[in-house]
Amino acid sequence: MQFEMVVKGGEIYTGQDCFQGDIGIKDGRIAAIAPELPEGEKRTIDAGGMEVLPAAVDPHVHFNLELPLLGIRSQDSYWTGGIAAARGGLTTVLDFSEQRQGEELIAGVERKIEQARGETPIDYGIHPTVYDWNPGLLSEIEELVEAGFPTLKMFMIYSEEGWRAPEAALLEAMRRASEVGATILVHCENDTLLGYFTEQVANSGDDVGAYGLALSRPNVVEASAVRRAVDLCEHVDGRLYVVHLSTAEGARCLERAQQRGVDVTVETCPQFLLLTEDKLRGEEGHLYAASPQLKKEIDNEALWQALENDVIDVIGTDNCTFTRQQKDLWEGDFRKIPRGLPGCETLFPLIYTYAYRHRGWSLNDVVRKTSLLPSRAHGLYPDKGSLQPGTDADIIVVDPEKSMTVRPQSLLIDSDWSPYEGFELYGFPEYTICRGKVVIDGGEINEVVRGHGQLVRRSPLG
Ligand SMILES: [Zn+2]
Repeated sequence: MQFEMVVKGGEIYTGQDCFQGDIGIKDGRIAAIAPELPEGEKRTIDAGGMEVLPAAVDPHVHFNLELPLLGIRSQDSYWTGGIAAARGGLTTVLDFSEQRQGEELIAGVERKIEQARGETPIDYGIHPTVYDWNPGLLSEIEELVEAGFPTLKMFMIYSEEGWRAPEAALLEAMRRASEVGATILVHCENDTLLGYFTEQVANSGDDVGAYGLALSRPNVVEASAVRRAVDLCEHVDGRLYVVHLSTAEGARCLERAQQRGVDVTVETCPQFLLLTEDKLRGEEGHLYAASPQLKKEIDNEALWQALENDVIDVIGTDNCTFTRQQKDLWEGDFRKIPRGLPGCETLFPLIYTYAYRHRGWSLNDVVRKTSLLPSRAHGLYPDKGSLQPGTDADIIVVDPEKSMTVRPQSLLIDSDWSPYEGFELYGFPEYTICRGKVVIDGGEINEVVRGHGQLVRRSPLG
């Protein structure tokens, strides 16, 4: 058998097994995995001494996100965000559409596809996102599943923007979703409490600066909403996916729910594992504003443990980049800071470094939480998240000896700051291969891949 490309002599980790061997690629797919294959017809990548893994998947990014109240748009486009993601070992990102008032959800999805066309170097999918609930949307869920969009996002906050979904809507959507092979992704924060605490902090007369965000979001804001979402899901025997979990209390509640048999999948983000709300103090504190907010060290540790106990299956980033200039719009009022952090480029290296090198995870544990399980949870498996003959050739090759100290200028993401500045990270791949195309080649951008990425129409969820 002839192969266009062969990745040769690497240590292969599939998420389940580990062995030395070669991977043969043909027509963008893995054609064979064997101890010894012939050289590729077009190219052979020497992976001797390196680790060969399924490429990572970021199930939670925002590219070109519009913030109408502030009149701005997040910085990453499908090209700059996509190439940064590839540099960090991702070949698939899942972005969120924006629904305008009165629209069907598919309209927002189509706008996203338009933005990605000819731009994205890696594959992407879309979560149709509910900004303006009406009961008619219930009948759209099945059509969206059939079209390859089995994950819908709804918010429990943002009443000011008009995006908050009423509880009855969440309940009906969870019921409908589980009937037709979809799941509802929920941003769990308690709108009433958040409004109350925000007003209290803003009116206190204290000069709290950006730390006002931490003061106005005590853990009960998230935990009480998580509890409510679980209650609704349990009532209709539905399916729920909690995005960007940030608190110890939330993790405990979800662990109990899973023990009772509630069908809930949980996602957290590197910032909730590795950064704390202390970042919000001081002159640059406003840069770290995000939604939800950074929490305390005790939460970091509880979330690591929840990952290790398999309460949390998925690590995403909530990548949403704003530059220093955009962050400066806050003018001292913590309520007005554009909230979001760059993250997709550093997702895999952070988990590789902190989970594998520092916490004693196996490399297969890293593959499971950054690739295999996110792919399963979002209907991408086995084309993404696996190394098997017949599936997409989405592969990364990592030199375990190589590290990089993070500086904004050393990253590809279109940001003039990084929440991880100064971190020494391992795990930036030498090669990132997306459907057989080398997108990152020897650690560098391959420019010809602009537009190579495709929309992934995903499978219904089981
Ligand atoms: Zn988000």
